[in-house]
Amino acid sequence: MRTASIKYLSALLFPFILQAAEYPDMFTPSYYTEKTMKQQVDALVKMCQKAPFHHPLENSEGKRPEYRVPDMGKFGAGKGPTRKEQHHPAVDMHVGNRKTEVEVFAAHGGVVSTVRDAPKYRHYVAVKKVIKDDKGRVLGKLVTLYGHVDLDLNEADELSLDGQIVKAGDLISKHLYDETRGGPHLHFEIRYYRQDDQGDEGFYGFQQKIPGSGDWPWGRWDPVIGFGYGHPRNHSLVLYK
Ligand SMILES: [Zn+2]
Repeated sequence: MRTASIKYLSALLFPFILQAAEYPDMFTPSYYTEKTMKQQVDALVKMCQKAPFHHPLENSEGKRPEYRVPDMGKFGAGKGPTRKEQHHPAVDMHVGNRKTEVEVFAAHGGVVSTVRDAPKYRHYVAVKKVIKDDKGRVLGKLVTLYGHVDLDLNEADELSLDGQIVKAGDLISKHLYDETRGGPHLHFEIRYYRQDDQGDEGFYGFQQKIPGSGDWPWGRWDPVIGFGYGHPRNHSLVLYK
């Protein structure tokens, strides 16, 4: 009861603070304790959130197919036998009844890279955008990742975008992979990297100890690879209720 009234009071007095806490992003543990890192990441994320994202399933006519997001496919959901072995720093969108002919669109502009045979993702498309501050200094990059797509079928359809520049709403894939566990679906992920963080995407996986940081309950996180996953709601994307 007391918590509820404090929450209510906070909502009246500090709407922005409460809003930020309502959709927590996921950051590496040292983010919370290292002041400099936190400042750098916060500045980067703030710039990343400036433009609302295009819905990754919305076509140029503003139409979206019917899709569902299972409980364990929601952002931050725990996965694995005890629901703690893996985090899910993304949103899984299942279209229709195991539909694979699904068009996917870039959430924001940037440079495309296409990757085959990545552990966990199989094929994926990534869109990377360099993020600068108001004075033009590079803060880092924003990456959105569109996993479990079928690049072979895309290429057969003459959709080969590796290295190309796209803008928000551009078509980036036409096919989902048929044999993804749990049925074909789009795994949509938002990531932030500081300027000096290394940009390898292959780090989504099982829980392990991080030197100097202890266990991170949300799963494996290698501090040299990246520092954060973004909640879609913080980019004005309502992907599920
Ligand atoms: Zn997923």
